[in-house]
Amino acid sequence: VYQSHIRQVLDSGEQYEWELGWEQGDGSSICFLVRGVPEFGSDGKVTSVLVFSRDITERKRMEALLYEREQTFRNLVENAPDIIVRYDTQCRRTYINAAYTQASYRPTLLGKTPMEDWAIPTGPGEAAAFQANLQKVLDSGEPGEWEVRWKNTDGRSACFLLRGVPEFDLKGNVTSVLTFARDISDRLHLEEEMRRQASYDALTGLPNRRMFGDRLHEEIARADRTGKIVALLFIDLDRFKEVNDSLGHEVGDRLLIDAAQRIQHCVRESDAVARLGGDEFVVIVPEVEEAVHLGRIAQAIVDSMVQPFNLDGYMAYISASIGIACYPDDASNEGILVGCADQAMYAAKAQGRNGFSFFTRDMQEQVQHRLLLAHDMYDALQKGQLQVWMQPIVEVATGQVVKAEALLRWLHPQRGMVAPDIFIPVAEETGAIHEIGDWVFREAALTAKRWLEMRAANGLAMVPCQISVNMSPRQFVRANVGESWIEYLREIDLPAERMAIEITEGILLGDQADILGKLSKFREAGIQVALDDFGTGYSAMAYLKRFNIDYLKIDRSFVRDLETDPNDRAIAEAIVVMAHKLGLKVIAEGVETAGQRDMLAAVGCEFIQGFFYARPMPLNEFMEFVRISDTKSMRHSIYG
Ligand code: C2E
Ligand code: CA
Ligand code: CA
Repeated sequence: VYQSHIRQVLDSGEQYEWELGWEQGDGSSICFLVRGVPEFGSDGKVTSVLVFSRDITERKRMEALLYEREQTFRNLVENAPDIIVRYDTQCRRTYINAAYTQASYRPTLLGKTPMEDWAIPTGPGEAAAFQANLQKVLDSGEPGEWEVRWKNTDGRSACFLLRGVPEFDLKGNVTSVLTFARDISDRLHLEEEMRRQASYDALTGLPNRRMFGDRLHEEIARADRTGKIVALLFIDLDRFKEVNDSLGHEVGDRLLIDAAQRIQHCVRESDAVARLGGDEFVVIVPEVEEAVHLGRIAQAIVDSMVQPFNLDGYMAYISASIGIACYPDDASNEGILVGCADQAMYAAKAQGRNGFSFFTRDMQEQVQHRLLLAHDMYDALQKGQLQVWMQPIVEVATGQVVKAEALLRWLHPQRGMVAPDIFIPVAEETGAIHEIGDWVFREAALTAKRWLEMRAANGLAMVPCQISVNMSPRQFVRANVGESWIEYLREIDLPAERMAIEITEGILLGDQADILGKLSKFREAGIQVALDDFGTGYSAMAYLKRFNIDYLKIDRSFVRDLETDPNDRAIAEAIVVMAHKLGLKVIAEGVETAGQRDMLAAVGCEFIQGFFYARPMPLNEFMEFVRISDTKSMRHSIYG
């Protein structure tokens, strides 16, 4: 080949260029540009050929690289999943890639501006905004980022994230803008879904507490403008926990879904139903014409809830208690309104459940009263206004005072004696119950210690061997509940069996493993456990078996009518029989008459507590009582 090129130059007398390449021993190739230049004799004939060779290996390599790169770029741009468009300085499209063409909802016209052909589907506003963003990149020469949103024909919203990058000529003038658009609709849908989940209850699909708050806020603002009345119905299902515990959470969930639907059937389209959590629902009635209407809604809900629930074959029976409050009549803002409706709901529960109750002035006074109490309670303990009183518990078999219950008293400087039924709930709300409860326990333990020493010193038979303290659910949920109490008993060197705690059934409804653990801690230390107010709560026998409990306290309400109501007598007897079967001893509370005592004794109840023997008393009175009883019983034993 080489020789033929030389010959060609010799023959033609014209210079010629060709490339010459070969592989080297190491596998790399080398390339030369060869130029054959003819030399002429005096006769004008070619005499010889001068050959110049230049090594162009490097240049060739660069060229190949450039070509490859260009191809890569073109492929990248052409086939990028992002939509890539070049706009000139007039915002006209001069280039579009395949992704653009595939996005069928977009016109594919070159030479047009967005304003010209974008009216559908984004709407003219969106196109103008888009073009303004392009113009900004053109004017500033700075890259920019923005979003475009619209609704597709199928109703789904679409969203693109755009990046516009300016391109320059050699003099540094902006010649065009390259836009890269990424479809972020999926992200948008995810965000929408998350927003939906944040505002709706996953179980019932009703608006949740958060959305309820927003809605109430809106309605109240509207009422402020229109002068209309907004009503709030606070609905709490009675005995839902029982269903949940006995039939399982899945059945409980089904019940809540059904209950939600029933509530919705009872209200108008314009009323808003929400689930606040657990078995609590609310209804906002945005425009109340007359209170009768509210009563009708509430009654409809109450009626619909007593219909049996058929839950995948299980029949469940519940009821609802509803509280109703109105803005602006009862409350001056939404927070207070919710509180008022809640308060009214409790009143409905107190009136025997399965009904509704309007918020009243009385309740309002109660609310205010509680606020004042909460304030005063803050330093009641420090100011020495709290006292621990004792009520004796008598053993039926011996007639002796063998135990005492510690009951808290608050001697308020202005109000006088405030009943624990009033101030304990307040202390629970404010959290003061922890400090107060710890104090009650220590006081009671110190008393038990003193009694122990007294018994040893002068052999008073009547001095109780054990003191029980009440524990509210709020105290029991603390993680390290009882630890400091057990520690304190060690400190004062009091045998733990001298103390007992009284808990209510409500406590046992929580996280079972947690409760079991906490209860065992007390019992392992030697502190006994009594189940208080038995018969008023859920009275689920299953709990008694599962948790280790020493005593059952029959609630006062069964004792009260023992002599007149055969039903109560049957219940009391049944409780005693059942307790004994489970290895528990029974304490009857609120025994006021000899007749009651005799009946309880007859059915095998071991201990009696009540005004029949004595009311709760301050310590010194209690000791006096014990001393008198002691001599009495001595006389009994001596003279028969
Ligand atoms: P409880 O634990 O059921 O206490 C028994 C209540 O029945 C006491 O009311 C007692 O005075 C009353 N009582 C006793 N015998 C009779 C009777 O024969 N007839 C009548 N009608 N009533 C009788 P009290 O002292 O007003 O206490 C009310 C509640 O306050 C207690 O109910 C208990 O739940 C709570 N409480 C009292 N002290 C404490 C405390 O230190 N901590 C906690 N967490 N709660 C306490
Ligand atoms: Ca008690
Ligand atoms: Ca009780």
